[in-house]
Amino acid sequence: MKTETTIQGLSASLNPARAARKIIGFVPTMGNLHEGHLNLVRAARKLCDVVVVSIFVNPIQFGPNEDFDNYPRTLEHDSHLLAEVGCDIVFAPSVEQMYGKQPRLTNISVSEITNDLCGLQRPGHFDGVAVVVTKLFNIVQPNFAFFGQKDYQQLAVIKQLVRDLNMPIEVIGVPITRAEDGLALSSRNGYLSEQERATAPSMYATLQAAEKQLQNGQSLDVVLSNIRQQLTEAGFDVDYVEVRTPMLQKIGQFDQDIVLFVAAKLGKTRLIDNLQVKHST
Ligand code: AMP
Repeated sequence: MKTETTIQGLSASLNPARAARKIIGFVPTMGNLHEGHLNLVRAARKLCDVVVVSIFVNPIQFGPNEDFDNYPRTLEHDSHLLAEVGCDIVFAPSVEQMYGKQPRLTNISVSEITNDLCGLQRPGHFDGVAVVVTKLFNIVQPNFAFFGQKDYQQLAVIKQLVRDLNMPIEVIGVPITRAEDGLALSSRNGYLSEQERATAPSMYATLQAAEKQLQNGQSLDVVLSNIRQQLTEAGFDVDYVEVRTPMLQKIGQFDQDIVLFVAAKLGKTRLIDNLQVKHST
């Protein structure tokens, strides 16, 4: 496995594969890797000849009061894990390498679906994601790019961006990887105290209970308010509990497949999760 820290170095590493028309798979990450990330790499490995993983903590997707400075940076450990799952090239650029010294004047904004859910709590977040992903796509020029359903809204934003701007890339969504107790794996889980970590799995348990209630004919409104109540009782500070169609449209009744979304804080740590619920016809 090679590690490249410059755009030029990455191009030099990828050019032979491009010339040989090899299929290039790309997994963008912010590092501090866990099994969730590694499953994206495994999915890429299955489908592609060459697998590139980027590790870049992108400053412009963090709000002023978010954890950019403290975000865990563990490149050496990440590299060991990536080598084990068959990554070919790690791209780990500096902020200066990605953004240069000249001011950036171009913005990318995916409207409507970003003014919702996490976009409401994190203004500018998805614009920052759209810019960095577009830059990375242009740098890596992959055939396939892999994103986790854990960040369902982000995946939808990237799919929309690729479609709207005719990017010649196929975006693949990979299911959520969970700990044995159901907690969706996240780099931010490391911020949880022991007690918070013990509480955290109830987020997924609450979503599963909601799925059962819906299948038993309970109305959406009641189910959403049950989720909110259960999370609050468990000790979460709820940001939102919402339901959308798989394409993130608002919906009032459970009459088609839906996705339940929650975001809530445990202490200072903000956790998100979602559950796709099928409507049986
Ligand atoms: P991050 O490093 O948090 O920016 O995540 C990089 C990629 O890994 C994103 O596409 C995430 O959606 C994905 N990811 C993170 N955690 C998980 C998980 N538990 N299951 C599946 N994908 C994940």
